[in-house]
Amino acid sequence: MTRNDTLRITNPATGEPITTLPAASADDVTKAAEQAQLAYDTGTWSRRPVRERAAVLLRLADLMQRDAETLARLDSEDAGKPITECRTGDVPGAIESIRWFAEAADKIFGRVAPGGPDGLGLITREPVGVGAAILPWNYPLAMASWKVGPALAAGNSLLLKPAEATPRSALHLAALAIEAGLPDNVLTVVPGYGDEAGAALARDPLVQALSFTGSTTTGRHILKAAADTNFKRVSLEMGGKSPQVLMPDALSYGDELIGDMIEAAFLTMGQNCTAGSRVLVHRDIAEEVVERFVAAARELVIGDPADPRTQQGPLINRAAFDRVADAVDAARAAGAQIHTAGLPHGLPARGAYYPPTVITRVPAESAVLTRELFGPVVTVETFGSADEAVRMANATEYGLAASVWTRDLDTALRLARGIEAGVVSVNAYSEGDITTPFGGWKQSGFGGAEKSTNAFDQWTREKTVWIRTR
Ligand code: NAD
Repeated sequence: MTRNDTLRITNPATGEPITTLPAASADDVTKAAEQAQLAYDTGTWSRRPVRERAAVLLRLADLMQRDAETLARLDSEDAGKPITECRTGDVPGAIESIRWFAEAADKIFGRVAPGGPDGLGLITREPVGVGAAILPWNYPLAMASWKVGPALAAGNSLLLKPAEATPRSALHLAALAIEAGLPDNVLTVVPGYGDEAGAALARDPLVQALSFTGSTTTGRHILKAAADTNFKRVSLEMGGKSPQVLMPDALSYGDELIGDMIEAAFLTMGQNCTAGSRVLVHRDIAEEVVERFVAAARELVIGDPADPRTQQGPLINRAAFDRVADAVDAARAAGAQIHTAGLPHGLPARGAYYPPTVITRVPAESAVLTRELFGPVVTVETFGSADEAVRMANATEYGLAASVWTRDLDTALRLARGIEAGVVSVNAYSEGDITTPFGGWKQSGFGGAEKSTNAFDQWTREKTVWIRTR
């Protein structure tokens, strides 16, 4: 089999093969879309009473709970994510997402227009029909659940394309959905390569809505493909270069501040769309913050992702390692100061391990300040006033997330309002919870389309029914 008909799943911690899977071709995607359309048209799911759909999805959530350990292990092995992160973050979050959208399904109402004495306007919400979701590899199950939950709750058929490296949790999820009672061809996983299966979904004339999470470069391809074909509705959740802004009183939060900074910077080895990869700190506290932050980074337990004590595993592959290492080397050569946690002895030679790294005294033009590195690398810059902090925070083409730290409410609000990002958290590193919209501004995306009841907007379309009254 050639590259294009086989997916080779590799353990990023060892470089060893895990398994191979057939990769969906463009033709397979076309056929899957036709089957999804047929399933939609028969109405076994799309016209089923919404409370029955909710019951199936609640059963799915229960089955995910039953198989939580398997799901955690699949994502940990495929993506190199520490198993504890999968057990305590990704998997419970995914179960909560499916459950929340199931429970919300019958609380989404249409509207009635004011009309007049001789007319009544009913504005109803209908499923889009066949939807598609294209996923990244860094939160495989979690991202799947943000899309599967609202798309299925709203009555659509969904084609789900996981990332090349991490298809196994999506396949398991689809098997659980069948066990929960979902009719055939309502949720179809099409594991495959982006430029083949992903591109075919973006071009498919039956797909009416496509929700994408991944890089800005791929988002651009998908939007173009939609424009060139059937103008399917596209929602984009893409990269970030998110700031963590620390005002002079931030250090009064002590270890809580440092702990959250570490999580923001190094969760999933910094391969996190909302990673707080730019620390902007008031110059009065910069020295102490850097000292404590670097010391805490050096405490992180680096090792085998399957070990529950591990906090930092490998990057997704050697190509990611090279990209990160090259960027840090270039910053070093340009005069930046590199503070690295170093790697413990005995890690597998072919594992893509890169140590947590903090960069200070970064020259203004350095690429590490502007490019999304997607690795455990954080830059630190200083500022002298809140206005300067806002200017620096916004000096990026991205606008996904930000954190601001201060006890002063006025300053917190000034920063939160001034920063151009879809999610700003105050005195925390957080993306909110399942009830709050999530999404980026600028080149991070179209903003606020995921989670919360907003997610139903992606997967439903409004219809006006005008009734003449006599
Ligand atoms: P990627 O863009 O390389 O791949 C994402 C998905 O798109 C994969 O499934 C891939 O196969 C597919 N794809 C690739 N080329 C395609 C094409 N031409 N047409 C259609 N599909 C195609 O991204 P990645 O490396 O998997 O993930 C990392 C990126 O995802 C980072 O930029 C990160 O910030 C972003 N991300 C964003 C969010 C968010 O919610 N904003 C969440 C997680 C990750």
